[in-house]
Amino acid sequence: MKYSVGVDLGGTDIKAGLVSSEGDISCNVVLPTDVEVGGPKVVAARIAEAVRQVLVKTEAAGIEVISNEIGVGLGAPGLIIAETGIIHFSPNFPGWTDIPLVDYVNAELAKLHPPKGDVECNSQAHANEKCKPILKGMDNDVNAMTLGELRHGAGVGYKSIVALTLGTGVGGGVVIDGQVYHGSQNTAGELGHTVVEPNGRYCGCGNQGCLEAYAGAKNIVERTEKKIEARRSTILASTTMEGASLTPRKIAEAAQAGDPIAVEIFAETGRYIGIALTSIAHILNPQIAIIGGGIAEAGEELLFEPIRAELSKRAMDIPARMKVVKAHLGNDAGIVGSAMLALESEKPVL
Ligand SMILES: [Zn+2]
Repeated sequence: MKYSVGVDLGGTDIKAGLVSSEGDISCNVVLPTDVEVGGPKVVAARIAEAVRQVLVKTEAAGIEVISNEIGVGLGAPGLIIAETGIIHFSPNFPGWTDIPLVDYVNAELAKLHPPKGDVECNSQAHANEKCKPILKGMDNDVNAMTLGELRHGAGVGYKSIVALTLGTGVGGGVVIDGQVYHGSQNTAGELGHTVVEPNGRYCGCGNQGCLEAYAGAKNIVERTEKKIEARRSTILASTTMEGASLTPRKIAEAAQAGDPIAVEIFAETGRYIGIALTSIAHILNPQIAIIGGGIAEAGEELLFEPIRAELSKRAMDIPARMKVVKAHLGNDAGIVGSAMLALESEKPVL
C-alpha cells in the first residue's frame, strides 16, 4: 500500500490526513491557518506542522510507511499555477500575489528532517520517523476535490466529468480524458460563473446573473428573505421572527416540511443549476456531473430532481444523457484529492 499526506488549505483551517492509494483516510489533523498572524511563510510553517502531526499520528497508529520519502499534496483556494507551485491570487489570503508556496512549505518540511548523512529509510520500525515529507503537488482546492471524486468517489469508472461544489461560493472542476483540465492560464473550471440570467443578480466576480449569484449559500438565503418579505411563509417567517438567521439547511428543512417558499427556492436553485449544466454538457459532453458541498445535502427530491428535469428539458439528446449525482466523499474530498496530487506526481514540482 502506498501512502501520501493530503492537505486542504482553507482561509480558517488547515485539514490534513494520511491517505492510502485506495483512498482511505486516517490520522486526521485540523489546525488554524493563522493567516492573520503572519504572511505566507507563517502559513507554510503551519502546513508543515500539520504534516508533522499527521506523521506522528501515523507512527503512533503503527501504520508502516515504508519509503525514503512521503509525498504531500496541497489543495489551496484561488488561482493556483500548478506547474510552478505558485499561488497567483487567492480571495482567502488578501495581499498574496505570486507566492511560491510549494517552495516555502518544502523549506519548512526540510527543517523537520535535518540531513543525517546517507541514512537509508528502509527499516520498518523507524520508517515513519526517517521518511522525509516532500510537498510534490499543489492545485486549486476544487480541482483537488474533483480529482478526489474522480479517483475514489462518485467519478470512479468515468473519464470525463465535471464537478460543482455548492458552498459559500460555487466552485467547479473539469476532467477531460482522465486529467483535470487547467486551461491555458490555469483558470479553467469556473463553472459557478456560468451565466444563467443575463440581467440577473450581481455576482462577487462583477458580472451579472452567474450561477453563484443564485446557488451560493448567502445568495440562497437572500433570495429566500426577499420572498418572505413579499409573501410571508409560516415556517420560515417564524424562524426569522425568532431572530434566528436563515441558512440553506434551515430552508431545506422547511422545504421538507412543506413550506411553499422553501420548496420554490430549491426548485429555482435546481433549475438554475440545470441551466448551467445544459451549457456545460453542450460544450464538454461529460459522462457525469458530480455535485457536492453543503447545499447538495438538500437531496434528491428538493435539488437533484429539478436539476435533471431542467437538463433533460433543455439539452440536446446526447449531451442530456450526462448523469447528475451527489458527490461521495463529502468533507474528505479535499484531503483525498490533495493526497492524489502527490501520489500521481512523478517527481517534485520544483
Ligand atoms: Zn460570477
